[in-house]
Amino acid sequence: MATYKRLPVAFERGEGAWLWDQTGRRYLDALAGIAVCGLGHAHPAVRDALCDQAGTLLHTSNLYQVPHQAELGARLCGAAGMERVFFGNSGAEANEAAIKLARLHAHKRGVQHPAILVMENAFHGRTLATLTATGNRKAQAGFEPLVQGFVRVPYNAIDAVETAAENRPTIVAVLVEPLQGEGGVIVPDEDYLQRLRLLCDHHDWLLMIDEIQTGMGRTGRLFAHQWSGVKPDVMTLAKGLANGVPIGACLASGAAAEVLGPGSHGSTFGGNPLACRAALSVLDTLENEHLPARAAVLGDRLIDGLRTRLNGVPAVVDIRGRGLMIGIELDRPCAELVPLALEQGLLINVTAGSVVRLLPPLIIDDEQATQIVEAVSELILTFLGADAPAADGSPS
Ligand SMILES: *Cc1c(COP(=O)(O)O)cnc(C)c1O
Repeated sequence: MATYKRLPVAFERGEGAWLWDQTGRRYLDALAGIAVCGLGHAHPAVRDALCDQAGTLLHTSNLYQVPHQAELGARLCGAAGMERVFFGNSGAEANEAAIKLARLHAHKRGVQHPAILVMENAFHGRTLATLTATGNRKAQAGFEPLVQGFVRVPYNAIDAVETAAENRPTIVAVLVEPLQGEGGVIVPDEDYLQRLRLLCDHHDWLLMIDEIQTGMGRTGRLFAHQWSGVKPDVMTLAKGLANGVPIGACLASGAAAEVLGPGSHGSTFGGNPLACRAALSVLDTLENEHLPARAAVLGDRLIDGLRTRLNGVPAVVDIRGRGLMIGIELDRPCAELVPLALEQGLLINVTAGSVVRLLPPLIIDDEQATQIVEAVSELILTFLGADAPAADGSPS
């Protein structure tokens, strides 16, 4: 079905941060399949894990022990300080698990009509419940009736959360992105998650952090919430977890870890040996090659470079991000930049209408980072019809 408006290019193979189309033309990938291929394309560690597992055992179902799933669960829990994991096959499924968990947790404690607090501008997926949690009317339009039991407040506004707590005693959980991705690479205040954690503790709510886009080293830590020092009750992962093999995970700690039991949730494919081997190879590589730390360094370099090159350009509203999750906000719609970049051999994305979003693989080298800065600045300047700013930053 025509659910995507596709660009007129098909890639045939990839290596690292490079992709080749069917005519043999090479492109620099500054999107990584929307924050999926953190290790780049055709990474040998992922390839070897997949080939080995494909020749051994693909799937047995969750009716039996799945040792690779148990190993991946233990590794993720160890890294996140969590206790249990449910595995599905996508981000939306990971968030569905979190939403069901929050509801069952509430019902077990006698709350009849539990509500989950979600944010304006949020993105949590396309299934009915996650679409309802998503704060984008355009994505929801036509799919009514939406799911009950969600309360929405502005992102990065603790006052609004406090007001909601007073008015809606049935709130049982908060579902929040540590940085909003689709919403326009929105970076909240330094203490936002800490203050949410305090409110969750005070009201006995679950803090459920959606790390589907921000997780797996993208922002410079394995999980973006680790910058804030808070610990969530529930955390969801997907995108970068297995470098392109479909997988989603919902992790939980404390009381939240004990909510879902036999029969309360499930997935045929979830956590199968193939996907789990891929994810284990991703975790090994992130660790061995210190990629989260590298993402932090590269991210600073990209942001500095972009700020220098675009300094003094009035139509550039903001350049922001954390690690290799970067947004350049313009004062006008700029979706046309995507096909223009493609013509130049560069893959980028535009989200929220006017934000150029860069999500390159974490394995890019220094030269590729420089190429991204140069190419993206050049494109934006050409698009805006602006000359390069004078060296002293004053308009030329
Ligand atoms: C992409 C994304 C999802 C949805 O993941 P799917 O695998 O497309 O279902 C959910 N939350 C966030 C923050 C995302 O970026």
